Amino acid sequence: MRVILLSGHNFVSKGCQAKLDGETINEWDLTNWLVAEVFKRERLMKVDLVAKARNDYNDLVTEVNSLNGDVLISCHFNAANGIAQGTEVLHAASSIKGKKLAGVAQNIFLKNLKLRDRGLCPTLPGERGGSILNKTKQVAILLEPFFLDSITSFEELLDLMNKTADSIVELLEYLEKNEL
Ligand SMILES: [Zn+2]
Repeated sequence: MRVILLSGHNFVSKGCQAKLDGETINEWDLTNWLVAEVFKRERLMKVDLVAKARNDYNDLVTEVNSLNGDVLISCHFNAANGIAQGTEVLHAASSIKGKKLAGVAQNIFLKNLKLRDRGLCPTLPGERGGSILNKTKQVAILLEPFFLDSITSFEELLDLMNKTADSIVELLEYLEKNEL
């Protein structure tokens, strides 16, 4: 089982952001931190975990497909109006296995982060996250564990980031033990 862990966004387009104690924290900083942290924490034997990030998005789908993975996990954080909070996981609308894996991920996040259940998001090719979910060969999910712009302190951010990293390790352990 090969799992590709993708850092959402890139150096050019850094995603959503939050202002904490006068400092701007953007999504790109956090997706990279998260992917590195998962590698530090995992003790997997049967999963070949591959890290992927890319500044040029043009060929991202082709590049991801060339990695011959079984599963793709794309890491993101949400943003809206600075008040909304909760967890959601996106999957390709047409993928039964993607929906199943999204459900497993969502349950792990809800148990560990204890935020509002915003449910699973079946995603069409033209929608947010749609290309990476629909055009890649892998069973693909896109994680939105919490709303970055609703975080009010570094302490809260670090707590949620730690729980998010642990949740992804838990999801990888599920993949190590179960058929999709
Ligand atoms: Zn994002």
